[in-house]
Amino acid sequence: MAFLEVKNLNIGFNLSDGFRQAIHNVSFSLKKGETLAIVGESGCGKTISTMSILQLLPENAVIQSGEIVFNDKNLLKLNQKQMQQIRGKKIALIPQDPMTSLNPLYTIGNQLLEIIELHQGLKGKEAFDVAVQALERVKIPDAADKMKAYPHEFSGGMKQRVIIAMALACKAELIIADEPTTALDVTVQAQIMEILREIKTKYNLSLILITHDLGIVAENADKIAVMYAGRIVEYAGVKELFKSPKHPYTKALLNVILDINTDRIETISGQPPSITDDIKGCPFHPRCLNCMEICTKNIPELKKVEDSMAACHLYD
Ligand code: SF4
Repeated sequence: MAFLEVKNLNIGFNLSDGFRQAIHNVSFSLKKGETLAIVGESGCGKTISTMSILQLLPENAVIQSGEIVFNDKNLLKLNQKQMQQIRGKKIALIPQDPMTSLNPLYTIGNQLLEIIELHQGLKGKEAFDVAVQALERVKIPDAADKMKAYPHEFSGGMKQRVIIAMALACKAELIIADEPTTALDVTVQAQIMEILREIKTKYNLSLILITHDLGIVAENADKIAVMYAGRIVEYAGVKELFKSPKHPYTKALLNVILDINTDRIETISGQPPSITDDIKGCPFHPRCLNCMEICTKNIPELKKVEDSMAACHLYD
């Protein structure tokens, strides 16, 4: 049974030149313990789609329609107070830059204790022990001592571990990790991903991993949603997608990493459209090597293709 189900989500923005739709009919689901990776180039709608789960959208964003059902509750029907009970407690966010979640003026310990008191109602020694245990679980050495440290005394990787510890301390059931390792060097990236994998398995957590790195996806995800221009263009299990990608955009993304492995770097020519561009037909058609006449006129629907779902007229 789905633990999170995003159904037919449509989101737009009020811009200076009028309203523009950014997310088109996006649907995905997640079971307990599963990892869904959402991949695509910058601006494809990965972050907007997932921030809508936490209702952390920019002020000019409008959720036009859709449902976000988490543990049998439609989150879009909850008010801000009810959402506060879910945000940080049931659903935690690991952002690209940990400093967006850490306050430089307070010690790591103060910040952990505050959320433990808020979300678990614990105080004093009990709260302190939970905080130290959470830091130990993310392999922060001398955890009790590190409670007194300020964020600036920690490296980027260590700060990211603190954010993961906060999610653990609150007993979050779903973690949304938005490019959690982009700002880190390769060795630290691998350590953070290993910690995420370990805690996910140990606590049966569900994870939404937003990334543009298909290498990370291959090692960590159960299924993948490939996004392009605010739409899911391919949705498949990780094995199916890597073995037999269906959408030309997915194939192009995979070629980028395959060619890096053989030292021949080939990127996808052209740029993804912005939300202010008016594109007719398939949004990928100006860059697609398989473009046909129908692609310039009709938007393809996401439909079943063998064991995957793909939005492409090649499968009509
Ligand atoms: Fe390419 Fe046409 Fe498929 Fe779009 S619908 S990805 S343009 S073949």
